[in-house]
Amino acid sequence: MVDSVKLNDSTSIPQLGFGTYLVPPEETAATVGAALEVGYRHIDTAQMYGNEAQVGEAVAASGIARDDIYLTSKLNNSNHGRDDVLRSFDETLEKLKVDRLDLFLIHWPLPTRYDGDFVSTWKAMLELKEDGRLTSVGVSNFQPDHLQQIIDATGVAPAVNQIEAHPYFRNDGARLASHAHAIAVEAWGPLGQGAVLKDEVIGEIAGETGRAASQVILRWHLQRGDIIFPKSMRRERMEENFAIFDFTLTDEQVSRIDALDQGAGGRVGPDPDTFDYVG
Ligand code: NAD
Repeated sequence: MVDSVKLNDSTSIPQLGFGTYLVPPEETAATVGAALEVGYRHIDTAQMYGNEAQVGEAVAASGIARDDIYLTSKLNNSNHGRDDVLRSFDETLEKLKVDRLDLFLIHWPLPTRYDGDFVSTWKAMLELKEDGRLTSVGVSNFQPDHLQQIIDATGVAPAVNQIEAHPYFRNDGARLASHAHAIAVEAWGPLGQGAVLKDEVIGEIAGETGRAASQVILRWHLQRGDIIFPKSMRRERMEENFAIFDFTLTDEQVSRIDALDQGAGGRVGPDPDTFDYVG
């Protein structure tokens, strides 16, 4: 049974979902369809992934009620600025074939682009909530000072901050700054995009618990309270990643995983302070 996390706007989100980064469009409908069959009810996509339309196809074909599936998408880096936020949000709804999105995020802050003005983009994101077509609004890859800037400018904290986080890069700076503003943390790349799976300590704990390495890592995230959406295109892995609610890591096992943190050197993705890809 997947738990829910309460957000600061009084809505809630399933703590475990399914990621779709690098799922090719031509394989997305079948992949997301399989994830829905396995039991996932929270799908994370993005304008950048180029597979929103196929996610929408899978959702429509599933026969599952719209309100029983939590859908997230993200604003492409080329769509900062009010007009492009509003226009591209319409496109996202159309592609997903829904009339309401659960969560929409600014994908990257891009502090070295658009004159560093992600505040205007944030204001436009807030506008999207006004007519009921967007339920929750959040950000992704925001560093503590980026969060502070948008909150100072609008008085509104994002519902979530989706940031890279896994045992090799706990990202405590952005994580704790998010918590300080009651912002829920979504950990992207929860398996370190695969890098953490072969870790010796994870392997030892997998032996102790009789669980797969992936399950040990994902369980560690759940016990930290973060929201996760691991990605796999293989059904047996989707099932494995979903079966993490019937065991618990001890405090001692959690501490051993905590100790794997390498700080910024453990990142598998770009640094949000310098990342400037617009595409
Ligand atoms: P991940 O940590 O989920 O790892 C995915 C990799 O692990 C894949 O190569 C997969 O084959 C492998 N894997 C998954 N389950 C496995 C298992 N049980 N056993 C063995 N191998 C397994 O990485 P991710 O996909 O980058 O992150 C998850 C999601 O986060 C993405 O799909 C996307 O939705 C989101 N994301 C967001 C951002 C952002 O900037 N906001 C960036 C990257 C990813």
